[in-house]
Amino acid sequence: MNGDTIAAISTPLGEGGIGIVRLSGPQSAEILNRIFVPRRGGRRTAPWRLTYGHVVDPERGDTIDEVLAVRMPAPNTYTREDVVEINCHGGYAPLQAILSLVLRHGARLARPGEYTLRAFLNGRIDLAQAESVLDVVQAKTQVGLRVALDQLDGRLSKEVGKVRRSVISVLAYLTATIDFADDEIPEQDVDGPLAEAVSGVEQLLSNAEAGIIYRQGLRAVIVGRPNVGKSSILNALLRQNRAIVTPVPGTTRDTVEEVANVKGLPVVLVDTAGISATEDEVERLGVERSRAAMERADLILWVVDGSCALNEHDREIAGHLIAKPVIVVVNKCDVGTLVSEGELLELLPESLLVHTSAVTGEGLQLLEEAVSEVVLAGKASASDDLLVSNPRHKDALARALGHLRSARESVASGLPADFVTIDLTDAASALGEITGETVSEDLLETIFSKFCVGK
Ligand code: GDP
Repeated sequence: MNGDTIAAISTPLGEGGIGIVRLSGPQSAEILNRIFVPRRGGRRTAPWRLTYGHVVDPERGDTIDEVLAVRMPAPNTYTREDVVEINCHGGYAPLQAILSLVLRHGARLARPGEYTLRAFLNGRIDLAQAESVLDVVQAKTQVGLRVALDQLDGRLSKEVGKVRRSVISVLAYLTATIDFADDEIPEQDVDGPLAEAVSGVEQLLSNAEAGIIYRQGLRAVIVGRPNVGKSSILNALLRQNRAIVTPVPGTTRDTVEEVANVKGLPVVLVDTAGISATEDEVERLGVERSRAAMERADLILWVVDGSCALNEHDREIAGHLIAKPVIVVVNKCDVGTLVSEGELLELLPESLLVHTSAVTGEGLQLLEEAVSEVVLAGKASASDDLLVSNPRHKDALARALGHLRSARESVASGLPADFVTIDLTDAASALGEITGETVSEDLLETIFSKFCVGK
């Protein structure tokens, strides 16, 4: 347990109905007692009971805000320490005033993610669960949320823990055979449990790419010459399925970026100025922007006007498309189809082709299916399978798999037990990095610095 008491504003900055100042640590209740005056008189608050009253500066006697306060004694709390939450009015002034008051009375400002870090250090949750707190908060679609909640619930940790325990059990046996004579220890199967461990890790890894996409989302850039319906397609996709949250960092004046929920995938749709070769300065900038946007994209949606034949600008754009998956969106199919599909497929033989009308909505469903098909391409879809969704976990699993395979090879070629135990030690350590049994200070620092203050 940590000796000091931390405090932070745990609700987002800005104006809201309520805001919460949270304290955690041994002095939490004492600090609350000093600054909180319950309506019913006295200073005491009953544990686990939201109590109405006022925060009052004990030195000056000033009332700071009307609040609801609760104290939650250890160990059944978020951090496993004594926790206090003060629900005040959700404005900058009351929150800051209460925070500075508790800081003056013995708390110190929490560092980013420190509440969750304490929950981990005090053994309430493991590292994978701690990381998932951030994923839950940042989830952009219901599927992303489900993946994060699975992890918070400990589903991933349970699977990883199972494999790790069986590796450690084999390791213990092999170490014993090195240290003691053969006749002192009963023989134990080595390859069986290792084969099982390998397939367990392989199973987890097989879903990782899809999991990462569900968690992080992907970028799809919409290109095409002017007036083919790029913005209309973007708006039509958004109208049906706007993602839960839409703030996209890096939005510029020149490209429009919005997050759509495409079959559970958070897709950042980027509408560009279009690639079109003219001397015009504005157009040239547009070309550069489109190219830059394509570089950063996972997928390109090339929109053409299906109601007329391809023209030289379309062909020019096709030539500029870079080596990324492309979906050709043949738009305006409500007007008619004059474009030559043969020519489109000749230009981009690898691409998928979808007919749409941004006006009637026809084909939009198919477009969404095409996006998820291209992106997930055989990778797991949003079933009930456990999805590994964090690149850090994927990396640790991949290292564990390498060591486990090499351990099996050593066993198969009859190498001495030392060869096997080195690999098994490394495998167990890589698996332990996921749940936090084996983790360095640096890694903890990296992980929790991504959290904001108050989490
Ligand atoms: P952008 O310049 O490529 O972004 O194209 P816009 O989305 O601004 O669309 C250009 C024009 O085509 C607008 O007048 C749209 O209403 C129209 N438009 C877009 N999509 C369709 C469609 O599927 N069918 C029809 N009939 N008109 C469309």
